[in-house]
Amino acid sequence: MATGDFIRDIIEDDLRTGKHAGRVKTRFPPEPNGYLHIGHAKSICLNFGIGDQYGSRTNLRFDDTNPAKEDVEYVESIQHDVRWLGFDFGEQALYASDYFDEMYELAEDLVRAGKAYVDHCSEDEIRDYRGSLREPGRPSPYRDRAVEENLTLLRRMRDGDLPDGTCVLRARIDMSASNMKLRDPLLYRIRHEHHDRTGDAWPIYPLYDYAHPLSDAIEGITHSICTLEFENNRPLYDWVIEHTGVSERHGFSRPQQIEFARLKLDYTVMSKRKLLLLVEDGHVSGWDDPRMPTIAGMRRRGYRPEAIRAFADLIGVAKVNSTVDIGKLEFCVRDDLNQVAPRVLGVLRPLKVTLTSWPEGEVEELTGPYFPADIGKPGERTIPFGREILIDRDDFSLDPPAGYQRLAPGRTVRLRHGYAITCDEVVEEDGEVVALRASHVPDSVGKTPAGVDISGVVHWVSAAHAVPAEVRLYDRLFSVPRPEEGAGDITETLNPDSLEVVGGAMVEPSLDGAKPGSHWQLERVGYFVVDAVDSEPGRLVLNRTVTLRDSWTGTAEAPAPQVQEKSAKAKTRPPKKSRVEYRAEARLRDPVLADRLAAWPSAYGLSEEDADLLTGDRPTGDLFVEAIGAATPAAVARWIVNELPPALGDRELADTALTGPALGALVAAMEAGEITGPVAKDVFAEMVETGADPRTVIAERGLAQVSDDAAIAAIVDGVLAANAGKVDEYSAGKTALFGFFVGQVIKGSQGKANPQVVQRLVRDRLS
Ligand code: ATP
Ligand code: MG
Repeated sequence: MATGDFIRDIIEDDLRTGKHAGRVKTRFPPEPNGYLHIGHAKSICLNFGIGDQYGSRTNLRFDDTNPAKEDVEYVESIQHDVRWLGFDFGEQALYASDYFDEMYELAEDLVRAGKAYVDHCSEDEIRDYRGSLREPGRPSPYRDRAVEENLTLLRRMRDGDLPDGTCVLRARIDMSASNMKLRDPLLYRIRHEHHDRTGDAWPIYPLYDYAHPLSDAIEGITHSICTLEFENNRPLYDWVIEHTGVSERHGFSRPQQIEFARLKLDYTVMSKRKLLLLVEDGHVSGWDDPRMPTIAGMRRRGYRPEAIRAFADLIGVAKVNSTVDIGKLEFCVRDDLNQVAPRVLGVLRPLKVTLTSWPEGEVEELTGPYFPADIGKPGERTIPFGREILIDRDDFSLDPPAGYQRLAPGRTVRLRHGYAITCDEVVEEDGEVVALRASHVPDSVGKTPAGVDISGVVHWVSAAHAVPAEVRLYDRLFSVPRPEEGAGDITETLNPDSLEVVGGAMVEPSLDGAKPGSHWQLERVGYFVVDAVDSEPGRLVLNRTVTLRDSWTGTAEAPAPQVQEKSAKAKTRPPKKSRVEYRAEARLRDPVLADRLAAWPSAYGLSEEDADLLTGDRPTGDLFVEAIGAATPAAVARWIVNELPPALGDRELADTALTGPALGALVAAMEAGEITGPVAKDVFAEMVETGADPRTVIAERGLAQVSDDAAIAAIVDGVLAANAGKVDEYSAGKTALFGFFVGQVIKGSQGKANPQVVQRLVRDRLS
């Protein structure tokens, strides 16, 4: 999707209005505390794609402000991965630590301007003083220290005079701001910690919310693209830039933060912390294990950068979070490899076939093109054929089911690129098929002699010429679509069969010496890559990149139509399992959910159906439990079941600001007749968007229910006067218009009028 997403629309607008003096500058800002994953790839493709499109170089900037968790191994892997994906950040990456001097200078400026202070409160005290969404914070006792004292203390922090945790530098913004991020956020912390680039020069380190906007502004970034969870940080981002004057200092316009939905994929996890856990606890062989969703893992698995970029285009950029079907990624991988991977023959589990009609010791050189005609690429290789060949065990059946298109006693199949052969005899040992004896059909290469009936085509290799290979078959790392849902430990849902090593595979001799990292299709078996780590001359290791088809669902290869997310209505393929099954499965995994389903109908007077809907995942049930303090449980349940899904759209509950107590207050207000149903829906939408408190919204916007006869009568009179024609029709017998008048009056009251009162008054006036 080269153009047309909402971010590019913003850029186009800015270019039209000259907002950034015609400049477009983006960056990708990873923290070097892990390897990059496919979610980062989405962000890289977006940022570098925009840079390429508008002819400006995109910065790769390491956000290296937290030395305790960072490592040069990560710095190197990240640079390598970005280049491998096909993007150019110039000779050098940039580092937030390059700006530590200037960041510090600007912090002193803030102190001198009375906009920052040194606070000696402990972390706990600071949290306590910060208040909550419903309560304003209280000022720290150190908030009004004299400027000179603050400056002295800040310098002592910088000079390393004070031990870790003694004090912090905080911005002096607003302790009662409704956005908690603005309640005097921390800017600097004391950390006597060695830094890979600045050594021991700094005993203090800036926090992300301070360092990030300054780095953007110093580099003249115009559009600072980040994921949705940073939406609440935006006012702070803007505050830092405005009050330090950093953009003006560098002669740039101020950067603008734009948020988009982070990528989530099913059957895997994406948090670096969880990926690190898989590595450290040995559940995978490393960050580059081919089952990992890391770029390094995907590379080793045989995904090419072209496929990853195509995937990023396919899923596009949206404003709402959703989980993407991993099948879409696999579709892109197949689609890419189909064009580039030569077709060759290999047998995973060999079954020897002796061709009794073929002379001992005679070898014929057959030829096979590397690509099918529809790919239209040149290239062919010779394939030796002799008296003993190997076919896949799965391609023979003693007792073939109807429609079987492979070999069976007495049947004839074609060897790919070779002769037709007929199975004459089965050699069994202890009731097991150990070999076959067959005869070839003379003159059948590339043609079928009259009277020969061919059941199908199978792949094969010549036993005397084939090359042994270790083949690694990969499957999904987790056996459930949402490993992060449900009970705590993700390792419990690891797929025990995610790696199968096939030891005795045999492949055609043209693969002898195949380059590590080269891509092949073993016909009928899948796409493979020569493992770049373990493969060596004389020891061929092949990783299966992807099956030829999606064996998990058996569906055809076509993905859902391209997602047009411009409309912010991201649609993914409908889930393959019904919602009912998802919930049932979740309860099997998570005993807490199962207990809830058992207990809630009687404990709270819920219908079985509502209880089922509330116990398919933890967040929904938690919301319910937190909401029922003030309101009737059944009413809360009905509200969650009926009103939550439309309000969420494609988002997940966890990605919204909605809280249980706020929901409880809303339902209680409705139950008490303080607000009407339509008003409640409006307020609810706002709560989901912004985390607003319903009582505040009701009070501030004057939404309380109106039951007062006189006030409503006035609206009724207005409606009847404006619709005199319809009043006549009503009098003439068209009584169905009653609902119309009621609706108009309620609309006229902005949904606030008590519906019973409206009905009574309309009926009075019309009679
Ligand atoms: P994680 O949550 O996996 O630890 P992170 O967000 O902490 O990732 P960073 O190194 O801070 O990792 O991320 C660098 C950039 O990549 C950020 O701009 C971030 O918004 C973006 N990014 C991270 N994860 C995703 C994702 N799943 N989808 C899209 N962009 C992402
Ligand atoms: Mg981060």
